[in-house]
Amino acid sequence: MAHPTPPQSPAGPSPRGAVPGATGTTGTTGTTAASGAAMPGSAASARALVKTYGQGETTVRALDGVDVDFRAAELTAIMGPSGSGKSTLMHCMAGLDTPTSGSVVIDGTEVSRLSQRRLTALRRTRIGFVFQSYNLVPTLTAAENITLPLDIARAPVDRAWFDEVVAAVGLGDRLHHRPSELSGGQQQRVACARALVSRPSVVFADEPTGNLDSRSSAEVLGFLRRSVDELGQTVVMVTHDPRAASYAHRVLFLTDGRITADLAAPSRRDILEALGQAEED
Ligand code: ADP
Ligand code: MG
Repeated sequence: MAHPTPPQSPAGPSPRGAVPGATGTTGTTGTTAASGAAMPGSAASARALVKTYGQGETTVRALDGVDVDFRAAELTAIMGPSGSGKSTLMHCMAGLDTPTSGSVVIDGTEVSRLSQRRLTALRRTRIGFVFQSYNLVPTLTAAENITLPLDIARAPVDRAWFDEVVAAVGLGDRLHHRPSELSGGQQQRVACARALVSRPSVVFADEPTGNLDSRSSAEVLGFLRRSVDELGQTVVMVTHDPRAASYAHRVLFLTDGRITADLAAPSRRDILEALGQAEED
């Protein structure tokens, strides 16, 4: 059975494992090349990404020129104050919203140049998305929810990969339950499995533990980290919680629609410090 071996040696389920590709930069602004092509080895990137809402005096510049590369087989966390543009960034990267200007490249494909039909196909098969509120279909079982995007796209389900994802997420005995018969943590793990079942280039998760208690959060975060370390997936996750962010290989901070810090494998304490600085600025 073929599945990609992570390019780095797996750090195991420990949230504080070795950091692949870490550069040791802290507190730098921007992240990689400020312009031009996507960095080699990046699963998703944005260049000069701008998103404004509204017109005239009420215009809100939710993204103010974001340049970022999300490296393959890394778990990246994005933090920042409420209203700083985190959700807008996730939605623009995932093709759920259209940027005002700038470009988004997913796995070598320039998203903004795609027709609506191709974009929809890309979203269903190359991009996973996890919402804070799970967004499962109540009338379908866990298994049916997991394969729904592929079923709609009439794309084949790789059964070996499905089994691997379901085992990793720890849902083997819950596959025939409906969402109402599952706890919040189990529902979010179904949503994570749904995001991963197509073996996407990248999974975007917008506050995936925002509705969960600490134990369920740890289960979901542990799974997201394992999906990177053991299954070679690429995950970008928004979170408010420094403990959640400390599961990541890398933590980016967004302020007023711009990336203002980029920390490699920070501890919870490093993150709290960075947040304190961000508040003082
Ligand atoms: P975050 O997820 O960091 O809390 P958002 O990306 O949701 O921030 O929002 C960034 C800014 O864009 C905020 O000022 C917000 O009010 C504004 N915004 C987001 N979505 C819309 C929308 N659909 N229409 C108008 N303004 C919006
Ligand atoms: Mg948000």
